[in-house]
Amino acid sequence: MSLYWSSLVRRLTPYVPGEQPKLTNLVKLNTNENPYPPSPRVVEAIANEIAQDGQMLRLYPDPNADSLKDAVAVRHAAAGIARPQVFVGNGSDEVLAHVFAALLKHELPILFPDITYSFYPVYCGLYGIDFIAVPVDESFAICVDDYDRPNGGIIIANPNAPTGRALSLEAIERMLAANDRSVVVVDEAYVDFGAESAVALVNRYPNLLVVHTLSKSRSLAGLRVGYAVGHVQLIEALERVKNSFNSYPLDRLAIVGGSAALADDEHFHTVRQAIMASREQLRSALLGLGFEVAPSAANFIFVRHPRHDAAQIASALRQRGIIVRHFMLPRIDQHLRITIGTDEQCLALVAALRQIIELNVGRL
Ligand SMILES: *Cc1c(COP(=O)(O)O)cnc(C)c1O
Repeated sequence: MSLYWSSLVRRLTPYVPGEQPKLTNLVKLNTNENPYPPSPRVVEAIANEIAQDGQMLRLYPDPNADSLKDAVAVRHAAAGIARPQVFVGNGSDEVLAHVFAALLKHELPILFPDITYSFYPVYCGLYGIDFIAVPVDESFAICVDDYDRPNGGIIIANPNAPTGRALSLEAIERMLAANDRSVVVVDEAYVDFGAESAVALVNRYPNLLVVHTLSKSRSLAGLRVGYAVGHVQLIEALERVKNSFNSYPLDRLAIVGGSAALADDEHFHTVRQAIMASREQLRSALLGLGFEVAPSAANFIFVRHPRHDAAQIASALRQRGIIVRHFMLPRIDQHLRITIGTDEQCLALVAALRQIIELNVGRL
C-alpha cells in the first residue's frame, strides 16, 4: 500500500493467473493451454508480416482490425454473422473487461454462478459493479431458473470453468427469453471442445453476446486474440469503450495470425478431436484410480479424490514436475483442475497420481 495509490487501487483484489513457470521441463497442465502448436498458416502469416526487416512494424495496425473481424464473420457464416456484429480484443479477457464496463454496469446487481471464472468478480471490483453469485447445484450444474429474477445482466461461461460442465442451447435460450431486459453474456472459451455454441442464437436475441478466444482451441494463448459476437448495438457499445481506452489493442501480428488461425478448419478439427479423445482416455484412467471425474465438455477435467487431499496431491505432483490447478475457494478446495495435455503428458500424470495414491499422500 502506498500513499500514492488511488482509493480505487486500494480496494482492488486482482485476479491471480495460473503459474507460468520459468522452468521449461515441467508438464504444464495448469492453465488450459493447448498442448499442440497452432496452424502452420499462423506462423507463415506472422513471418510475412515481419518480412523485409520488419518494415511493416513501423506502421500502426488497423485500429478496427477489419480483416480479423471478417475472418470471424466467415468462421460463423452458418449463423449469418456480419462484420458489424464482431468485436475483437487483446485476448478475451480484454473483451470481457469492456463488456463489464459497456453492458453490465447498471442499477441492479449482475448475476453469475458462484463457481465460475474467477475473473468476473475482479472486473466487478474494478468497475464498481454489484453482483450476486448464484449457487450451482451439488453436481455443479447451472440452474437456469435461478436466474429468473431482477438483474442488471448475466454472465456465464459455457462450458463452465473450472467445472467443465456445459449447458444446452435450449437452456441458454430459456435464460435469454426470461431476461429480455438485460444482456446475457455467454463466455465460450471452451465451446470448441464439446458444447453447442450460442452464436447460432445471436440473430434472434438482441440481448445475447457471445465471447470467444483463440487461446485454447486455436493454440494461441501467447498471441492474445479474443472476440465477441452479438447485435450491432451491443458491438457499438464495446467499440465506444475500446475507443475511449486503446485505439490499437491488437497488434499487426495478432491480426494476421488470428485471421490465419480462423481460416484453417482442418488443423482446428484435428486438434480439437485429439484433445477430446485424450480427455476421455484420461477420464477413464482417473476413474480407475478412484477419482471422481465430472463429465467435461472442455479441454480440462475437474476431479476430486474422496480419500486424498487436493492441495497435497497438487504439491506432490509438482515435486514430480507436473503442475495442475488447485483453487483455495469454498466448495471446490478439494478439487483439482487438470488441463488435457498430449497423450504422453497424460500418461505421465496418471503414473504420478498412481504413485501418490499408493504412497497415501494426503490421506483423508
Ligand atoms: C481462458 C479463459 C478466458 C481468457 O482467455 P484469453 O482470451 O486468453 O484472455 C476467458 N474466459 C474463460 C472462462 C477462460 O477460461
